[in-house]
Amino acid sequence: MAGTLFIVATPIGNLSDITERARQTLARVAVVAAEDTRHTGQLLSQYGVSVPMFALHEHNEADRADVLVARLVGGEDVALVSDAGTPLVSDPGYRLVAAAAAAGVRVVPLPGACAAIAALSVAGLPTDRFVFEGFLPSKTAARRARLSELVSEARTLVFYESPHRLKDALLDCREVFGADRRAALARELTKLHETIYRGTLGEMTLQATQDPNMARGECVLVIEGAPSCTEDLDLSRYDGVLRRLCAHAPLAVVADTVSELTGLRRNAVYERALLLKRLSDEEPT
Ligand code: SAM
Repeated sequence: MAGTLFIVATPIGNLSDITERARQTLARVAVVAAEDTRHTGQLLSQYGVSVPMFALHEHNEADRADVLVARLVGGEDVALVSDAGTPLVSDPGYRLVAAAAAAGVRVVPLPGACAAIAALSVAGLPTDRFVFEGFLPSKTAARRARLSELVSEARTLVFYESPHRLKDALLDCREVFGADRRAALARELTKLHETIYRGTLGEMTLQATQDPNMARGECVLVIEGAPSCTEDLDLSRYDGVLRRLCAHAPLAVVADTVSELTGLRRNAVYERALLLKRLSDEEPT
């Protein structure tokens, strides 16, 4: 009989945030697949667990997943963990899960800590619908382009960000979404210096320039969605046309023409075209 693949969440800081079921499962599987076997070995030893480990990370997952699937098909139970939190959430694992499922292996989730969900739970922003965007691109032009795709997104946005890019990312968010959008920054969740900043993007960018602690440690940025206005959603559909027209005609003419053809408000079209033009002017040539 085939073994089972357990997808096991581990803490994102506080070692007590492990479930009893996770601890028991990790102690009894034949092998634990981990991103960094040394890091996970240390974590498991804190729980008194000693088990053979197998390195599975972003760069070798495609090749090594087959080895694990063969072991699963051969009857061994395998646990997958990541360095922290829930595997597959901005972490490797989906290729392994897909390969195991395709081979008829049972895949069982052991839920637990996840920085995105923990941040959402304390952000104080709507959580009934949200979009997890993972990490933004590291280069400014690509980051702004990605943000501009999200400018009309009405659902709450959740981003992972690295501390050394946080200030730039916040500035770009303010530029694209506007200074009045509400946001929350959840830093060092479950750790000693856990801090939750809440405010508008304008307030938050200002604070980031004044408070060096804000960009220390790990963080999750949560941003309120765009006001649910069908006009905004309709507008983003014309981004391609607006970009092309703006390259050949003054903004006022573009706004008049597109407004006349689509029935959208001229001012809204003008604002959108202005934003797109500003973003494209900032892209390196
Ligand atoms: N799989 C993990 C999860 O379930 O959250 C995420 C892994 S991803 C490679 C690492 C990113 O998650 C960090 O750069 C940070 O944005 C976020 N993160 C992880 N731990 C965190 C913490 N304790 N506080 C705030 N953000 C955290």
